[in-house]
Amino acid sequence: QAKSAGKNQFQPYDSLSASIQNRKLKIAKQLRNAIKNNEFSLVYQPIVQLSSGRTVGSEALIRWTNAENETIGPDEFIPVAEHSGQIIEIGNWVLQKACEQCKTWHSAGTMKHIMAINVSSFQLKAPFFAKGLSDILTSLSLPAECIHIEITENIAITEDKMSVSALYEISDLGIKLLLDDFGTGYSCLSYLKNLPFDILKIDRSFMPANNTIASTIIAMGHELKMEIIAEGIETLDCYRFLNKLNCQYGQGYLFQKPVPPSKFDIFRQFNQEVLACTLPNH
Ligand code: C2E
Ligand code: MG
Ligand code: MG
Ligand code: MG
Repeated sequence: QAKSAGKNQFQPYDSLSASIQNRKLKIAKQLRNAIKNNEFSLVYQPIVQLSSGRTVGSEALIRWTNAENETIGPDEFIPVAEHSGQIIEIGNWVLQKACEQCKTWHSAGTMKHIMAINVSSFQLKAPFFAKGLSDILTSLSLPAECIHIEITENIAITEDKMSVSALYEISDLGIKLLLDDFGTGYSCLSYLKNLPFDILKIDRSFMPANNTIASTIIAMGHELKMEIIAEGIETLDCYRFLNKLNCQYGQGYLFQKPVPPSKFDIFRQFNQEVLACTLPNH
């Protein structure tokens, strides 16, 4: 920040925080019309069964191009939307859209297509979250086993009764709950014992091959009878490392970056390509 300010690198803290504040306010204002103006879209990244290379599902990730044609990433605008309360409307849009896409792929495929949907802890606090989700599934005749709900580790959940009961309601619907970015945040192990999470997603910051933390999380997951997904697999070494440890699933640029639905192939097998990388001249 100071660097980009050039000569003004001794910009007083207050004006710096004021400009961050202004940016957030601007984003919150622009978000108001974003749904109505069709500015959001979802991209999908394959979830790959590591042993077979088979695509078993996808994670839906939101994208936003605002009215000024500027692309703003979810890491920046989701926290703003959480703060302003707009996350509820945006989150509902995501749920509806991702479930519709899941239905399309599920019907087209020979096996069930899993759709993993990111949900903010703020959405869990809203009344009737699970009911809303269940209504979407009913209206689409979509089996609950097709949906995974991804929640990022967050201390606010354990301390909020509404959120905890929402998690149980979701779980009772037959929807699997996934703990996202595992190992980066609050990481209290009693979380795993006391809340109905079924799947752990290892954060991509642990992804270089031969990482002790990744192997420890995988071993622990096996002990706890939880499924493990590794995110951020970028190299063949990393893939081999995880596969050897019997980590069941993975996602990452090695397989595919998130793509719009038109570019997504539910039948894609990654084995041959991944192996091809090991051959010379590839
Ligand atoms: P996340 O759920 O942990 O998603 C994984 C992020 O890693 C995505 O960033 C994805 O594009 C990126 N990624 C995937 N493979 C690789 C890889 O091999 N290497 C690297 N370096 N990155 C990889 P993205 O799409 O920018 O999303 C960032 C975060 O924003 C997500 O983290 C999630 O917390 C949040 N988010 C995205 N979409 C939604 C949404 O629809 N609702 C909510 N509430 N949050 C969302
Ligand atoms: Mg996620
Ligand atoms: Mg994650
Ligand atoms: Mg993340």
